[in-house]
Amino acid sequence: CKIDYQAPGDLLEGRVILVTGAGDGIGRAAAMTFARHGATVILLGRTIGKLEKVYDEIEAAGGAQPAIFPLNFEGATLKDYHDMAETLDKEFGRLDGILHNAGLLGRITPFEQYNPELWEQVMQVNLNGPVWMTQALLPLLEASADASVVFTSSGVGRKGRAFWGAYSVSKFATEGFMQVLADELEHRGTLRVNCINPGATRTRMRANAYPGEDPETLRAPEEIMPTYLWLMGPDSRGHNGESFDAQPPRS
Ligand code: NDP
Repeated sequence: CKIDYQAPGDLLEGRVILVTGAGDGIGRAAAMTFARHGATVILLGRTIGKLEKVYDEIEAAGGAQPAIFPLNFEGATLKDYHDMAETLDKEFGRLDGILHNAGLLGRITPFEQYNPELWEQVMQVNLNGPVWMTQALLPLLEASADASVVFTSSGVGRKGRAFWGAYSVSKFATEGFMQVLADELEHRGTLRVNCINPGATRTRMRANAYPGEDPETLRAPEEIMPTYLWLMGPDSRGHNGESFDAQPPRS
């Protein structure tokens, strides 16, 4: 079972993996975990100070030297994604994985009161930015012998929930886009695309969504990494167009 996956220490040896939203929460844990399993990690995010801290922690732990890529999905343009592809091409020549993890909650609020600018912002960060970034990076992914693209979904991306507005819609769309792309890639062989639903996890976003909840009742990001490792590594080969849970449903 993927939730209990036991990754060998060298699972991601030699792989170049991009993690978005790598400065905090689940993305930070994923970047450090991938590095600990041998990957060269490209840390993408909007707060450089946080990315630098993760960089230092990876180096201190003896991981392969990571790279930092500052980018804010809110203002990023197609040109930024193509410049990014060019930079990564020069530096690495290929990409073996992308964890699309950066995300914005927006506001939990009745639809009548949903602010249209905030709606656009959430759709930009959670859906459109990652979509166009993926398009620009496809040639680099196809240069890999075994590339895995993972989009981050949510329980509210599978069943709508009152007041979750753009966040919920963006996660449904993420699942949809993943399926469309996976179907196009089905017969091309070396590139697979799937979704992961982290489940309730102790992060800043979760605390914002559920201010009354005791964070100690939640799993920490480090505890949900087995499914992330399984999806990024060679053991998930052959899985394409699927959506996985990183933890069992809460009772
Ligand atoms: P956090 O808020 O802790 O981390 C989100 C990360 O995304 C941060 O590093 C943040 O950067 C980055 N980010 C936000 N906006 C932008 C932007 N405009 N451009 C670039 N980076 C940005 O959230 P989580 O770790 O909890 O969430 C990670 C993913 O998991 C998200 O996709 C979320 O929707 C999903 N998820 C989380 C659940 C949970 O219980 N925690 C449950 C279900 C899904 P910065 O640090 O600079 O703000």
